[in-house]
Amino acid sequence: PFDVLVLGAGPAGDAAAIYSARKGLRTGLVAERFGGQVMDTAGIENFISVQETEGPKLSAALEAHVRQYDVQIIASQLAAKLIPAEDVGGLHQIVLESGATLRSKTIIIATGARWRHLGVPGEDEYRTKGVAYCPHCDGPFYKGRPVVVAGGGNSGVEAAIDLAGIVSHVTLLQRGAHLKADKVLQDKLLSLSNVTVLTNALTTKIEGDGKEVTSLTYSDGDGGLHHVKTDGVFIQIGLLPNSEWLKGALKLSPYGEIVINDHCATSVPGVFAAGDVTTVPYKQIVIAMGEGAKASLSAFDYLIRLPVA
Ligand code: FAD
Repeated sequence: PFDVLVLGAGPAGDAAAIYSARKGLRTGLVAERFGGQVMDTAGIENFISVQETEGPKLSAALEAHVRQYDVQIIASQLAAKLIPAEDVGGLHQIVLESGATLRSKTIIIATGARWRHLGVPGEDEYRTKGVAYCPHCDGPFYKGRPVVVAGGGNSGVEAAIDLAGIVSHVTLLQRGAHLKADKVLQDKLLSLSNVTVLTNALTTKIEGDGKEVTSLTYSDGDGGLHHVKTDGVFIQIGLLPNSEWLKGALKLSPYGEIVINDHCATSVPGVFAAGDVTTVPYKQIVIAMGEGAKASLSAFDYLIRLPVA
């Protein structure tokens, strides 16, 4: 069995695996793919100390760093079930989609999240070429240019307020008749002079010139089609944690995030979690890496306190 079994090889899982191996712990890493969401990212300018990099380059660096250590990599596999140990200090089991079972004294879940997609034509084609999901990451790329935000909940309205300070103009599209964000956020949004809010506006298509986004089409409540010229479309209709397979095994928030404390401990002793799959506020690479390191040090702390067998 492993001392530490890490699930997910994004920034959080890779950091956790490296920290665990450096403690001399027997470490396994279920790596469906190295980099996680970072693999889907074009330019990265907020990974502190690296002025500019690209997703595939950072993902390759993460993989190389992990492979420098004695980490057993279980490649191209997904975890399908967690069977917690019956007693504190016992072995937890992870059943893989392949049916194989792995056993470990501690588990670190770092299975990340995915942005909910609109599912309209042009969204996939122009991803990272005008279609964006993260205002903290990509907002500055649109400095002085017009953008659209799709989504009128808290994240959409927060994104619109954030972007309004950077871009020339923000058009926020809300599918329903009313914004769903908190009142204070709505008031703030409506006080901004370079924001237009359109309700009953259902995005139907994202268009471009083959290289970049140039416009967006939406239908109004009566089925009429309208076009907005734009350089960017920020889709803000929800972040879905990859935690469906954990239902019933440990405590999840109403949004499906794994509930953790400030040591990355979950509701099950010996099971830790890190990064975008958890309740940690703000989903970013530097934060996920820090959380992965923290989860690993917490697992180490747990292991050294187990009674001598
Ligand atoms: P993830 O990166 O999501 O990695 C989780 C991994 O676990 C994935 O490989 C996944 O396939 C795997 N997995 C899922 N389910 C299972 C399972 N059941 N068993 C095993 N493995 C599983 N952040 C920034 O700081 N700067 C940016 O510029 C930036 N740009 C972004 C651009 C885009 C397009 C996107 C989508 C995100 C961006 N982010 C950016 C956010 C950043 O990528 C995430 O915050 C970060 O990757 C989270 O790391 P993580 O390790 O928690 O999860």
